Amino acid sequence: SSELMKGKRGLIMGLANDKSIAWGIAKACADAGAELAFSYQGEALKKRVDPLAAQLGSDVIIECDVADQESIDALFSTLQQRWGKLDFVVHAIGFSDKNELRGRYVDTSPENFRVTMDISVYSFTAVARRAADMMPDGGSLLTLTYYGAEQVMPHYNVMGVAKAALEASVRYMAEDLGKDGIRVNSISAGPIKTLAASGIGDFRYILKWNELNSPLRRNVTIQDVGNSALYLLSDLGSGVTGETHHVDSGYHVVGMKAVDAPDI
Ligand code: NAD
Repeated sequence: SSELMKGKRGLIMGLANDKSIAWGIAKACADAGAELAFSYQGEALKKRVDPLAAQLGSDVIIECDVADQESIDALFSTLQQRWGKLDFVVHAIGFSDKNELRGRYVDTSPENFRVTMDISVYSFTAVARRAADMMPDGGSLLTLTYYGAEQVMPHYNVMGVAKAALEASVRYMAEDLGKDGIRVNSISAGPIKTLAASGIGDFRYILKWNELNSPLRRNVTIQDVGNSALYLLSDLGSGVTGETHHVDSGYHVVGMKAVDAPDI
């Protein structure tokens, strides 16, 4: 615990349970003294999110389906009334039909392409615009991406295309909002077993492959992601914007399986 985030208020979007990347980030921020608000998707998740938020001393828990622009408006008007100002936002949200997270990308349906792009890409832009209005003294916005944006990964398919667009949107928004002292970054996390990840075909194999072949020879945890998020969300990251920061045990630098890496 430290004083790094003392006096800062942040919104965490995308908490589903205690395996969520959003939870690792929320804990790191709360441990450093931040005051947190949470948004969750749908009544079904409320019973999971309420006790987790309470654990971190938060009672600002607001429903928001990012597929619905009015729901995003309602979230920010509630926050405006509660807090007035905001220092940071974490967007840990992604969605695609799991039937299309296997097989061939080329078979992606137009409907799932649209929904995947809307929820996994546009929602961060929609949130950023509203958050920026509550950041008169600057702030920090963070989203989550994956290496499948840069290189072809098995089964990632339309989600890889969406993450590439998400990373590009981070760069454009860094320019748009930089003059107002608002930084926009993403963390490219290595594979972690979460609810969303369980929809990806052969995910256990992908986890094992990364563990055996990344420079650190282990998978990352939500604590690892939380630690790096803290750097980007706090004043430690004051000179960093438009960045895709890899928190993946170094996997993205590997060009070929190491000679000493065992077969799976
Ligand atoms: P998770 O299932 O815990 O979180 C995904 C969240 O997205 C859930 O809370 C869900 O409610 C929310 N969501 C989906 N559709 C929504 C909507 N319409 N409105 C509001 N919320 C919605 O899984 P996670 O792995 O923690 O995912 C968080 C982010 O991290 C995602 O963007 C994911 O792509 C990214 N990511 C995950 C991994 C991994 O291996 N787990 C790796 C890199 C990046």
